[in-house]
Amino acid sequence: MKKNQRIYLDYNATTPCDPRVVEAMLPFFTTMSGNAASRSHPYGWEAEEAVAHARGQIASLIGAEEKEIVFTSGATEGDNLALKGVYEMYRRKGNHIITVETEHKAVLDTCLHIEKIGGEVTYLKVDEAGLIDLGALKAAIKETTVLVAIMWANNETGVIQPMSEIGKICEEEGVLLFSDATQAVGKIPTNPKEHGIHLMAFTAHKMYGPKGVGALFVNRKRPRVKLTAQIAGGGHEEGMRSGTLNVPGIVGFGKAAEIAKAEMETEAIRVGQLRNKLEKALVAEIEECKINGSIENRLPQVSNLSFRHVDSEGLLMTFNQNIAVATGSACTSASMDPSHVLTAMGLAEDLAKSSIRFSLGRFTTEEEIDFTIEKVKAGTVQLRDLSPVWEMFKEGLL
Ligand SMILES: *Cc1c(COP(=O)(O)O)cnc(C)c1O
Repeated sequence: MKKNQRIYLDYNATTPCDPRVVEAMLPFFTTMSGNAASRSHPYGWEAEEAVAHARGQIASLIGAEEKEIVFTSGATEGDNLALKGVYEMYRRKGNHIITVETEHKAVLDTCLHIEKIGGEVTYLKVDEAGLIDLGALKAAIKETTVLVAIMWANNETGVIQPMSEIGKICEEEGVLLFSDATQAVGKIPTNPKEHGIHLMAFTAHKMYGPKGVGALFVNRKRPRVKLTAQIAGGGHEEGMRSGTLNVPGIVGFGKAAEIAKAEMETEAIRVGQLRNKLEKALVAEIEECKINGSIENRLPQVSNLSFRHVDSEGLLMTFNQNIAVATGSACTSASMDPSHVLTAMGLAEDLAKSSIRFSLGRFTTEEEIDFTIEKVKAGTVQLRDLSPVWEMFKEGLL
């Protein structure tokens, strides 16, 4: 391992484009640069055909129909469109939405907005494994409930919610179910129809496609879900999302979906083995190193670990920029807030601030994992040797 080598273990933040995806996209920047809405010449027809092909590739990955795929700029937009679009469309039926404390900010901030304009939102709690309580979900549904919004897999911990059971409850109660499946699509099988999910948001750049393009699945039959468009204009995407389609991005997204469908199963095994190797070594060889979140119900590529009395930002410094990982904190202005996901799971603030998310992917090698294990071990020892708090903890004074 070279001194200035960089190891990328932040695949949950974004993935590099697969070279096969880039290759598929390239002609659509230059020779085939038409607008998919241009009906009067071959440039437009080519682009329209390419978009239709990509729509098919994406629909096929999730077992949907092509008309059920609405292209967006990403999962943030998909989350906004699903929540605001349903809220506005079904406003006369009710104003109540149910979601979870550990959702992505794109969902939580949209819910805050909906509360400001007259909506009512219930935020379900999670247990220490990061899972919701199905009884609490059922009890929260009432006459005015129009939508339940629960993410398929968490971006910080990889914890997978029981989507089938959630879907059954929503079906029985007659409410719509939306899932932000951004981290799950392309990593594990995610067929919304098999789980009673009516709306599902995801994005290309978390599955080896380009940034700035995503999709919202919108169920068309039994029930036919309607949305109030959030971006008005030319009436693209069945009137649900106007704006000239990002043709190269959509072509890349389609290719990424095709690759994911073909390789997901073997990739999950390979990446899962590397994740387990990393996790087992760190938990076994570092004192007070603990896994955050359910071990059984988890994506294969993520490991969220806390290292008691080690500041995760400090630990990052010891990596000398050799390893790219995410800490459990989010920088909001000048202060470091502990992760809302980890604190919702009951972690004390200091433990949340001692957490690191390792997320692996398609291009992660065993050599990189071995190097990372050594770096993390050395870093925790170095920091704890200097730490009076750790010394007190060891002497049983804390
Ligand atoms: C990354 C992510 C998003 C945001 O996706 P963008 O395409 O970057 O807008 C939303 N939800 C989850 C769970 C994510 O991991």
